[in-house]
Amino acid sequence: MIAHIINTDIGRRGIGRVYLEYRMMNYDFLKEAAETFVKNVENVVIVTGFPVYPSLKPENDGPLGAVALYGAVERLGGRASVLTFDDLKEAMSPLVGNFIGREEADRLVADGEATLLISVESPGRARDGRYHSMKGCRLDIEGFDDLFIRARESGVPTIGIGDGGNEIGMGNVRGLVEKYVPRGEKIASTVEVDHLVTSGVSNWGAYGLVAEASVLSGKNLLPEWREEEVVRILNYFGIVDGVKGKVDMSVDGIPLDVHEGVKTLLRRVTEHLLKR
Ligand code: MG
Ligand code: MG
Repeated sequence: MIAHIINTDIGRRGIGRVYLEYRMMNYDFLKEAAETFVKNVENVVIVTGFPVYPSLKPENDGPLGAVALYGAVERLGGRASVLTFDDLKEAMSPLVGNFIGREEADRLVADGEATLLISVESPGRARDGRYHSMKGCRLDIEGFDDLFIRARESGVPTIGIGDGGNEIGMGNVRGLVEKYVPRGEKIASTVEVDHLVTSGVSNWGAYGLVAEASVLSGKNLLPEWREEEVVRILNYFGIVDGVKGKVDMSVDGIPLDVHEGVKTLLRRVTEHLLKR
């Protein structure tokens, strides 16, 4: 049920079909991701930030999900740090306490000190080795996906959350992205993770993972903020709506009351499941 809610494809980007086929083969994907999440909270590195073409300003889908995951890790008694681009780091500073740089994250993965890597809406390289926007424009940026590639090699568990096909983790369903997402052959990420969480909006994917982790851990870990309040903070720092490419009171082109509604539904479903 939670997986269904977060995969409502109201942006009509093709992720709905990707999800349905993925789910048929991996019915418990969200539960399995949540199990890995709950078991590995000691030292979690959360990666977020998707630069939007052509300004390369990061978008506001991803950061809210990252903040929700960060809070859930803390409430489970663990420690989280966020790895992101400098401008998004500044914007997220009022919302999370621990940030980590590229070099430190590399070291944590190489030394096996990181217990879990999670990506929420972060670019994954395509077959040509480059990053692309959903419209197929090349993004000349230095991504964080190499960390996930190395984590897979060193045995650090990885979770990837995405909503379009060009994100870290979507390599798990590359064939489906190529089949169902416009320009899929060009933009599809090749970067694989242990657990892929698909979603209609990546923030919802993170909220869904937190909801499922709540059910597993017996306490409601979902954030109580109003979407409007958090987006206003990000807006202040010039973080943009990724679909519109400009600062606005929306995420992925979808008004904030819809996001609020999805989060409220997840909270109510979680409360119901916790009572059973
Ligand atoms: Mg996306
Ligand atoms: Mg998105």
